[in-house]
Amino acid sequence: MPDLFSLDGKVAVVTGASSGLGAGFARALATAGADVVLAARRIDLLEGVASEVEAIGVRAVVQRCDVSVPEDCAALVAHAMAELGHVDILVNNAGIGTAVPALRESPEEFRRVLDVNLMGAYWMAQECARVMQPGSSIINIASVLALIKSFAPQAAYSASKAGLVGLTRDLAQQWSGRRGIRVNTIAPGYFATDMTDEVPREMLQEFIDHTSPLKRLGEPHELDGAVVFLASAASSYVTGITLPIDGGMSGH
Ligand code: NAP
Repeated sequence: MPDLFSLDGKVAVVTGASSGLGAGFARALATAGADVVLAARRIDLLEGVASEVEAIGVRAVVQRCDVSVPEDCAALVAHAMAELGHVDILVNNAGIGTAVPALRESPEEFRRVLDVNLMGAYWMAQECARVMQPGSSIINIASVLALIKSFAPQAAYSASKAGLVGLTRDLAQQWSGRRGIRVNTIAPGYFATDMTDEVPREMLQEFIDHTSPLKRLGEPHELDGAVVFLASAASSYVTGITLPIDGGMSGH
């Protein structure tokens, strides 16, 4: 049974790996056996995560990448291929969160969120799919806010994350049968990271109390099983889905 979840010999690219959930995804994939390519803008933080990943006993490669820049995405995948020879797993985790009342949101603010959260995932998926072999897996990190309404004004964020759900369905349709690349999405609920640190904790807890049967934030390790499942042969018959890991928030 453990072999089903093994990522031995695989190469995973994780965007937004410099902090929070992305660093956790990198550690989880490394623990399952994958070599990991860590990408984000803050190289110093990436180097720290790379040391943790190498301590697990696999290879780590670090590359600066702004996912909203298509040329950066192409350079990242080219670097991964040059250093490690193949790319089998992509975790599209890079993201930014905003909360701006719709009547006050500028075109630049709205576009920036879409550029990073949705377009960035698409540029990365395109570049990876060009080199991926059958058996590969793309995992997009959306949010429970792709599925339920927020307690804050988050049009750009919610639209970008709902966009990932549609993108996932379409890319799965285009690539899973023909190219053997499965495409799925994880929709996390609320986890303590730099992003959620910006939300007043009492307001967040009240929202969680009303929507989650578990009535608590997720622990970072509670995403490990989902990412390893979707990256591995354990999910070989799963594509095009959005898997909520949200303490039941989207089921209420
Ligand atoms: P975080 O700690 O702020 O991490 C965000 C990551 O994205 C950082 O590593 C950041 O790295 C990277 N990033 C931001 N803009 C980027 C860009 N233009 N190009 C490349 N990398 C970029 O927040 P987090 O909570 O871990 O968020 C990770 C993902 O999970 C996001 O997509 C977020 O929407 C999603 N999510 C989080 C929660 C939660 O409760 N925490 C819930 C649902 C979904 P650099 O600044 O170094 O570039």
